[in-house]
Amino acid sequence: MSFDYDLFVIGGGSGGVRAARVAAQAGAKVALAEEDRYGGTCVQRGCVPKKLMVFASEYPGHVEDAKAYGWDAQIGDFCWDAFRSKLHAELDRLEGVYRNILGNNGVETFDARARLADAHTVELSDGSRKTAKHILLAMGGWPVLPEIKGADLGITSNEVFHLDELPETMLILGGGYIACEFACILNGLGVKVTQYYRGAQILRGFDEEARGLVAEEMQQNGIDLHLGTNILEMAEDGGKIRVKATNGTERHFDKVMFATGRRPNTAGMGLEDLGVKLGRNGEVLVDEYSQTSIPSIYAVGDVTDRMNLTPVAIREGMAFVETVFNGNPTPVDHALVPTAIFTQPEMGTVGLSEEEARDQGPIEVYATSFKPMRESFAGRAQRVLMKLVVCADTRRVLGCHIVAPGAGEMIQLAGIAVRMGATKEDFDRTVAVHPTMSEEIVTMREPVRTA
Ligand code: NDP
Repeated sequence: MSFDYDLFVIGGGSGGVRAARVAAQAGAKVALAEEDRYGGTCVQRGCVPKKLMVFASEYPGHVEDAKAYGWDAQIGDFCWDAFRSKLHAELDRLEGVYRNILGNNGVETFDARARLADAHTVELSDGSRKTAKHILLAMGGWPVLPEIKGADLGITSNEVFHLDELPETMLILGGGYIACEFACILNGLGVKVTQYYRGAQILRGFDEEARGLVAEEMQQNGIDLHLGTNILEMAEDGGKIRVKATNGTERHFDKVMFATGRRPNTAGMGLEDLGVKLGRNGEVLVDEYSQTSIPSIYAVGDVTDRMNLTPVAIREGMAFVETVFNGNPTPVDHALVPTAIFTQPEMGTVGLSEEEARDQGPIEVYATSFKPMRESFAGRAQRVLMKLVVCADTRRVLGCHIVAPGAGEMIQLAGIAVRMGATKEDFDRTVAVHPTMSEEIVTMREPVRTA
């Protein structure tokens, strides 16, 4: 049977674009459909605009520090309009880059929504049908709104980059990556931020000591964080949003942002009709080669809800191409993925938290928390944390957790050592780079506790 294409990719985000490009470079005839902007969540509504906003939000702190260092520095007003225009011009440029990557590699693109008609056929929103030997689902995810009365008055991270003006006050609901990052960003930009999280501590799943320090620092920076608190209902009230909360309060905010998780974009795709198995959250179920229950259909990235991170989606896309087009079956390895949360201060983490490691066997914990030189001189109260979780039997470093300015940069490098199976003694043998914050990671001699 002959097909129009060797591969049809649905979704032009990080995973889909990488898979399409690499498959085309391997000699496959490839097409890709994207209904929105190329680049997907990471480029258009996630990592990239978020990080630019992180940079923007850090300037007031830099100016304060500059004063403490003897500069006659003053911060003026932040012009959201000017920043937003520049931000969107940059996102337009990046969209062009993504389109060019595809075009230059001979991938045919369709600016259309696509759904599955059968195991080898995609139907586009203009009614046309395309056949392919393999189909790759890479539709990503979308924010979920909680079922709360008046939730439609709130925004999500999708809209935050498009606000007409920055609100004076904002409530952020949630305690995950997005909620915490935006609480810090908006606080830095001068918005009075309140954050409600239903659990006992933000950043569930991460090392407890590390998340505790991030929470403490966020509060110290002026974020009004309420734990064990959820929204009961919301209503419009004189141009503001009135929010009734489970802690018995009723407060008014200019904006409410939900960062209450994301759901895979699988609705209305014709997946169930075809027998593509989905999980409880609507995620496409795949094996270690990213193959779905229908052999010609594969899926990568957030649509599979495995580990919703851009570099992981890219890895999954490349492993898929290696498996299907290069005859080299390559499972995707999701172990020891370093990651950073761009709160202020940042958290960088790789491997097991102390709590996870403790459940697996005897461990030693090495940790130090201190005021870094730069911030201390500037009179800031900020503390940082460097922490290693070590297996008492094998001496391997099972987890590394850093809360500090620049922790994202640091954990990328520490991640290599942890990934290589470095022992505590390997860390110890490495000479410190002085004076830095990260030198503490190789100078901790005695465990603070064993478990
Ligand atoms: P998360 O799943 O990380 O967090 C969702 C948060 O919302 C949790 O705190 C959750 O609480 C809470 N929540 C869920 N439902 C409700 C509800 N009905 N009412 C109140 N609270 C609720 O999702 P995010 O949206 O923050 O991020 C999605 C994913 O995007 C992340 O998992 C991450 O993989 C990725 N991401 C990565 C970034 C990075 O690498 N720096 C940055 C941003 C996103 P509970 O803990 O109790 O379940």
